[in-house]
Amino acid sequence: MNALLTPLVPSAKGRAAAFSVADLTKRFTAIGTGAVMTVLDRLNLTVGQNEFICILGPSGCGKSTFLNILAGLDPHYEGRIEVHGVVATGGKLPIRVGYLFQEPRLLPWLTAEQNVDFALSSCKVAREQWKTRKDEYFAMTGLDRFRGHHPHQMSGGMCQRLALVRSLCVEPDLLLMDEPFSGLDELTARRLRMDLLKIWNARKKTIVFVTHNSYEACYLSDRIFVMAAGVVREEIPINVPRPREYDDPRIFDLNRSVVRKFLEIAGDA
Ligand code: ADP
Ligand code: MG
Repeated sequence: MNALLTPLVPSAKGRAAAFSVADLTKRFTAIGTGAVMTVLDRLNLTVGQNEFICILGPSGCGKSTFLNILAGLDPHYEGRIEVHGVVATGGKLPIRVGYLFQEPRLLPWLTAEQNVDFALSSCKVAREQWKTRKDEYFAMTGLDRFRGHHPHQMSGGMCQRLALVRSLCVEPDLLLMDEPFSGLDELTARRLRMDLLKIWNARKKTIVFVTHNSYEACYLSDRIFVMAAGVVREEIPINVPRPREYDDPRIFDLNRSVVRKFLEIAGDA
């Protein structure tokens, strides 16, 4: 039997696996020199259904490369990704994936609501569901009054909220978030983190959130995967009960040990 076809382990806490990654390897070949760089090196992880996990890692360790593969944007990898028990083939995952980036990537000529309509239409969501979904997510993110605004009339935080509405409205099975709050000021980022958890508590989803901010990872996630040089080096469960207070001293304590571990792994301690 091919080693890659052995059964994948169930995720933590006995949850049904949302997806599993086995021996995921990604290499880039430099144009000109032809030098091969291994960016993901037999990466393994299993994420439970409706689990909120964070990937914490230094810049350049392969976090975005990993998310791009999960999003189905890059089919050129070795290893196996299994989603809800089905093996992804040709880079196509058999689920709806939402992807949120550091920049909101909105269409500037459309209003807030039209930006969301564009996503609903692109994802072929039945038109009779549009109103309910928009009402719900615009209200949840406090953007209801701004539906008719264009992106240039909104602050950075509001634009990122809108990007969140856009990705949630299509009801993704898996939401990928690549440092979505790292371009915002700390106060705005903090509000968005709190709102994200409220939304996640209300409308459970599987979330993979990439960050290099360890406090953010401790506050948000069920588990942190510390990544370095293309591999998961450590898995840290965050057992603080939910709903969580942002300034819970247990999160501060955990953060101290996660920072220590992060520095140790990144080679700075
Ligand atoms: P992170 O998101 O953790 O900061 P990335 O996944 O963006 O890191 O990049 C990991 C490494 O892969 C970096 O050294 C980067 O230069 C390289 N890399 C990313 N995309 C490409 C590409 N399309 N071609 C060549 N190298 C790339
Ligand atoms: Mg990145």
